[in-house]
Amino acid sequence: MTETSATFKAKSTVKSADLEHRQKINFNIGKYNAIVPQGKHQFSDVSLARERAKNIKWKAIETLDQQLEAFEKNFTRNGGKLIWASTAQDALDEVLTICREKNCRTIVKSKSMVTEEIHLNPFLEKNGIESIETDLGEYIQQLDGESPYHIVTPAMHKSKEDVAKLFAEKLGTDPKLSPEELTLVAREKLREKYTQAEIGITGANFLISETGSIAVTENEGNARLSSAFPKTHIAIVGIEKMIPSLTDLALFWPLLATFGTGQKITSYNTIISGPRQLNETDGPEEMYIILLDNGRTNIIANAKQRESLYCIRCGACLNACPVYKNIGGHSYGTTYSGPIGSVITPHLQGMPEYKHLSYASSLCGNCTEVCAVKINLHELLLENRNEAVETGNATFTEKIAWKMWKTASLNRGMMNMSNGKMKNWMINKIFKVWTRHRSDLTFSQKTFNEMWKDRMKGKN
Ligand code: SF4
Repeated sequence: MTETSATFKAKSTVKSADLEHRQKINFNIGKYNAIVPQGKHQFSDVSLARERAKNIKWKAIETLDQQLEAFEKNFTRNGGKLIWASTAQDALDEVLTICREKNCRTIVKSKSMVTEEIHLNPFLEKNGIESIETDLGEYIQQLDGESPYHIVTPAMHKSKEDVAKLFAEKLGTDPKLSPEELTLVAREKLREKYTQAEIGITGANFLISETGSIAVTENEGNARLSSAFPKTHIAIVGIEKMIPSLTDLALFWPLLATFGTGQKITSYNTIISGPRQLNETDGPEEMYIILLDNGRTNIIANAKQRESLYCIRCGACLNACPVYKNIGGHSYGTTYSGPIGSVITPHLQGMPEYKHLSYASSLCGNCTEVCAVKINLHELLLENRNEAVETGNATFTEKIAWKMWKTASLNRGMMNMSNGKMKNWMINKIFKVWTRHRSDLTFSQKTFNEMWKDRMKGKN
């Protein structure tokens, strides 16, 4: 068993028995479940909307090479500077070079999973640069020294009491503050940082090749401030975020809002096409976009897994997953958790270390059912299992177990050799691997042949 797999199992075991955690998650996901159906009413045919979105993403990913070239041409024509980063380290090095050029001491940052993926904040900290999260949920997580728990709701596992306690500990506020008062405290702290920061860093929800623009969706206005206040704006974006046309946003914005938070449309949707132009009064003097690969081309090269790149990070599959709801976001030990994380992480970070995530699923198909862009998530998890076996990543015990199972299943004589009692004992007591995390298997007391005979007798 790899270290990542052992850690995952240990953390999952603890979390799934943590009833307080379960109660908090169920409360927050319950609120989400109550509001999403209302958001869906805005679509005359929500299934068709999802299908159309899937087709647009299909087109974008199938022609990604051309879309990226067009994006680069259009963005640089707008005065932006485009940087290609093959790996996380490349992206980090580029950010540091810009920071050094600008003599940057403070960065304001809006919520971005890609910056989590490349571990930007610890890297900047190591290099003596303060990087402040400006999204409230991310700010809470940063104060607590934790990574985001959920791709849309970073502090989903914390109650308002937890947050009040955290603010009291870290910022010296009254532990009885209400959520509104806590928000005002965070706002006051953050506003000051916007005016100090030399650089603002954001992610992007979409890259638009037709215009060379990024589209950023948020509910707090902090990404707008992070990109407009400092003199330099850096957007770090995964190459798969591409959509061909500006008009595609008419579908993707409401879809992302509804499946992400149940809103009809998110509060702030911003399209940024480059730095401030001569006739403009605000915006950064310079804008960089770092386009990150970091394993995404591995997924493009894999015809079966390619559709996982259609993901718009709405988080719906996490909220729907019975495994996620029990073990929580941190047990995965990955940037992307839940079903989509289990699908893509083995391809982004290595099958041997992360293949176990493909088994963290009941294969109930609920993730596929709720996916905003109809990704066949549960089938891709099965594909991952298959790939793990095909590439020699199955364990020796697993290989032996399946070999024995296959031999016995294909041999009626062997299947009939023992009764149900003996089979129960063999599986539940001898092969304890099965029952370590599951309830006992109960075999029928009679063999199939015996039952068939009985049935035939009954008919005669
Ligand atoms: S896989 Fe689908 S449901 Fe899950 S986050 Fe991505 S778009 Fe949303």
